[in-house]
Amino acid sequence: MAAVQLSGIFKRYGDTQVVHGIDLDIDDGEFVVLVGPSGCGKSTLMRMVAGLEEISGGDLMIGGTRANTLAPQQRNISMVFQSYALYPHLSVYENIAFGPRIRKESSSSFKPRIDAAAKMLNLSGYLDRLPRALSGGQRQRVAMGRAVVREPSLFLFDEPLSNLDAKLRVQMRTEIKALHQRLKNTVIYVTHDQIEAMTMADRIVVMNAGRIEQIGRPLELYDHPANLFVASFLGSPSMNFAEGVIVNRSQGQTQGLALKLTDGSEVALERAPASAVVGAKVALGVRPEHVEVTAQIPDTALDVEVVEPTGAETHLYGKIGGTTWCVTTRERSRIEPGQRVALRLPAEHIHLFDTESGRRLV
Ligand code: ADP
Repeated sequence: MAAVQLSGIFKRYGDTQVVHGIDLDIDDGEFVVLVGPSGCGKSTLMRMVAGLEEISGGDLMIGGTRANTLAPQQRNISMVFQSYALYPHLSVYENIAFGPRIRKESSSSFKPRIDAAAKMLNLSGYLDRLPRALSGGQRQRVAMGRAVVREPSLFLFDEPLSNLDAKLRVQMRTEIKALHQRLKNTVIYVTHDQIEAMTMADRIVVMNAGRIEQIGRPLELYDHPANLFVASFLGSPSMNFAEGVIVNRSQGQTQGLALKLTDGSEVALERAPASAVVGAKVALGVRPEHVEVTAQIPDTALDVEVVEPTGAETHLYGKIGGTTWCVTTRERSRIEPGQRVALRLPAEHIHLFDTESGRRLV
């Protein structure tokens, strides 16, 4: 078991710095997901933890020991990659046994571990097969089996599900989570998929351009994104935004603040944070599932352009203030493209961000 601490970790390739001073404390047994768009530095950070990439600066502690210059095999880490990297000419059993054999462990010492891992990963019936006779999901489970038998104190997963089809990804996601609940070891998991991050993580680290944007529990980040980047990155369909200026409300019956959008229309703000003063340029954000189609006095209106029924819910797409919005309804909607629908934006679900800094207003 191992806690992991990263303090001021950075990475330079020649003159180019790609990771800019990462501070991150991971508890023993925690499942931490690094998520962010392609090229934001997730893999580089992971590879530095694994010892596959030199650390240009900062301190890496694994299990209380400074690990910056330790060789990968001294770090007691197992890594599972996107490509399963199985040996095609070796059976499932021999693929899983590869590490212990290399370390010259006796077969009587590692066989029980392999049998236990195979049982846990539903591979017991496949131990004599070659990788080519397995499905993608089974191959990924063999790769995990190989990682598990090392009994590492730290598991690193680098986009392990990217090569699988959608259904299998969902299934493997659950299996990896169940595996963690059984083994209770520390996991750092890299993905660009925000759903994977939301569903698997104890804590999510959202990265962007070599920096951490926010760290927190999945629903904390979803409900209280610290900035526009996190707000737009997490959630699918993503959060709706409208930019404008805070004004005293001039339309409708009630008094109070409103957001005047670029097209001149106003969105009522029933409740605004203290820093939302008249004249401030802000971006209003509201998630598709929080927008209500209403028969009451509306806060704004949507000119519906596209209606997408997904079965469980319906997505309505249209423009507000020149920006495309999505409204998700759980009812089977009779709304048609070309219709104008009145919307309510519940005050408790409205997020406001400073347009310039992108930071959440409080
Ligand atoms: P991610 O895993 O988030 O997609 P990476 O960690 O792979 O991102 O890459 C982060 C940045 O570092 C990218 O801009 C990438 O081009 C750059 N990079 C990665 N490896 C190298 C390398 N060996 N030499 C120079 N730049 C690199």
